[in-house]
Amino acid sequence: MEKVILIKYGELSTKKDNINFFLTKLKDNISYVLKDDEATIDYDLGRMFIHTRNIDRVLDKVKNIFGIHEINISYIIDSIEFEVIKEELLKLLKEKEFKTFKVETKRSNKKINSTSVELSKNMGAFILKNIPNLKVDVNNPEVLINIEYRLNNTLIYFEKIKGLGGYPVGTLGKGLLMLSGGIDSPVAGYMAIKRGVKIEAIYFESPPHTSIEAKNKVKELARKLAKYNHEINLHVINFTEIQEEIYKNIPHEYLITIMRRMMYRISAIIAGRRNCKILINGESIGQVASQTLTSMSAINEVVKIPVIRPLACFDKLDIIEIAKKIDTYETSILPYEDCCTIFVPKHPVINPDKERCREYEKLIPYEELIYKAIKEHEIIKLGELKNKEYEDLL
Ligand code: ATP
Ligand code: MG
Repeated sequence: MEKVILIKYGELSTKKDNINFFLTKLKDNISYVLKDDEATIDYDLGRMFIHTRNIDRVLDKVKNIFGIHEINISYIIDSIEFEVIKEELLKLLKEKEFKTFKVETKRSNKKINSTSVELSKNMGAFILKNIPNLKVDVNNPEVLINIEYRLNNTLIYFEKIKGLGGYPVGTLGKGLLMLSGGIDSPVAGYMAIKRGVKIEAIYFESPPHTSIEAKNKVKELARKLAKYNHEINLHVINFTEIQEEIYKNIPHEYLITIMRRMMYRISAIIAGRRNCKILINGESIGQVASQTLTSMSAINEVVKIPVIRPLACFDKLDIIEIAKKIDTYETSILPYEDCCTIFVPKHPVINPDKERCREYEKLIPYEELIYKAIKEHEIIKLGELKNKEYEDLL
């Protein structure tokens, strides 16, 4: 009887024609995360198995992989004979202390004549007969005994661990995340990764108006997202000159609108170069002046690439809850200035006019400035396990 990590796919099982593509990717993603562990993986259309001696360590890593619906520490018995299984189960149960139990059976092997309910009842009766002082409790059992009869073997497990769900990273192509140091954008990135999008990130800095600490904070956020994405390329754009030109030449109520149009333009170009099919950002309807519907429309008109806003309809408190869960919150609330907050006008326009945006932009040589910023941009590769030095800098 071997102890293995059993993986259930959930939503992936609905991918009829493409299921092999998704499962191969899931297997590759798991192998990548376990590259330093001694582990082997095999799978069929219903289940994936990880064979390893370091169950606990591997389990901790597998919990952070998208595309997994449920994880179980399972025992494999190389038999489908009831007589063999019940003896093996008895051995496992004798190691446990409990008073109530319930048996749940799945039977993917249709050659077995009994129904799942009959199999559960028979096994329950056998357990009651062989271990004294036990009771069946169908509503709230101390031990839930799951038995799956498969074609050539049988699985037994007791605990169900919820996986992260979603799709394996990379199955849906690539996207470019606009990553600021705030609370929202890392959460938006996490949600896109969850849907199978592999992300790269772009950050606009304005030194000396923004500090090295602000940049390190964004690196740290990217590193935290890398845990789900394998690694992240962070594109750092020096935005100072563009921002100063806007500040000097454009009516201040339009500062943010024009600045964000420039960010969108640059992001779209980087996305194109990096084969990213979408932009992702942390905008949420109504959160600030630049996120009214009219503002979003005025900002969005400068790019053709689809802009996905995973948090568009989320309340801030719900976003904070996710940020805490994925461990980005504490980093996000560190008090370093962002390039938007420094140049923020007293009265930003709430309903910007597109025509006026276009007129104002003629006042600065923005194409030239964008070209220069992109030419000089820095790419930082961040992995979950590397780049520990940033923690020291924070
Ligand atoms: P966040 O909490 O992510 O900072 P926010 O509520 O502060 O968002 P804005 O500053 O209006 O909102 O920014 C909206 C979105 O635009 C951000 O979520 C992010 O995706 C993107 N963004 C803003 N500033 C930057 C920046 N300096 N670099 C990259 N992307 C940015
Ligand atoms: Mg922000």
